[in-house]
Amino acid sequence: MIFEQIPVGQMQNFAYVIGDEKTKEAAVVDPAWELSKILNIAKKHSLKMNKILITHADFDHIEGVKEIFDITNAAVYVHKNGEKDIRNLGIKKIKTIDEGDEIDVGKIKISVLHTPGHKPSCVCFLIGTDKLITGDTLFVEGCGRVDMRGGDIKKQWESLQRLKDMDENIKVYPGHDYGSIQHSTIKHEKENNPFLRCGSFEEFGSVRQS
Ligand SMILES: [Zn+2]
Repeated sequence: MIFEQIPVGQMQNFAYVIGDEKTKEAAVVDPAWELSKILNIAKKHSLKMNKILITHADFDHIEGVKEIFDITNAAVYVHKNGEKDIRNLGIKKIKTIDEGDEIDVGKIKISVLHTPGHKPSCVCFLIGTDKLITGDTLFVEGCGRVDMRGGDIKKQWESLQRLKDMDENIKVYPGHDYGSIQHSTIKHEKENNPFLRCGSFEEFGSVRQS
C-alpha cells in the first residue's frame, strides 16, 4: 500500500494519499493549501486519483477540493452532514457516506466511522485494519475544538470513547500537526492525550475548559 502523510498550509494541516500499488488507484484525503505537493506524490507513484475523501467539511480541509476535482474528476466522499458544503463548492459528483460504509481503493478497504463532536460531518477513516485517519476528531495529544458552529461536547466525548476502545496498535493519523510527533497510536493517545485520559464526561468537561 502507498500511504503518504503530507503537511500542507499555514494551519498545519495534513492531507493524505492512499494508493494501491498494483492497480494504481488512489484516494486523496482532505486536499487543501499545497495541491502541488499532493499531485507530485500521485505522479511519483503513477497513481490515478479517483476518489476524494473528506474527514469533515471545514474550510481548511476542503479548500482545495474543487481544484483537485477539476483536475481528476474524482468523486467526493463526504458525510451526509457535510454534503451541502461540498455542493456549495460547485461539485455535484458527491457520494455521501455514513457509519459502517466501506470504500474500495483498488484492493484497499477503507471503513467509515462517524465521529461527530468537533463538527456533525466528522468521520474517521480506517485504512485496512491498522491505520486510522482521524481528521479533527483526535489529534496527537489533543482533539478538535467544540466551541464553533456545529460543535457538541457530549458527542465528542462519545466519539473519543469509541476511538479509545479500538485496538491499541492502530496508528493514528490526525488532520493537523499539533502534537509532539506527526502520527501516533491509540496506545500513545490513551497514555498521553489529556482528553483520552479522562475517566468521566465531567472530567472531560473540566479538561476542555482548562
Ligand atoms: Zn481543521
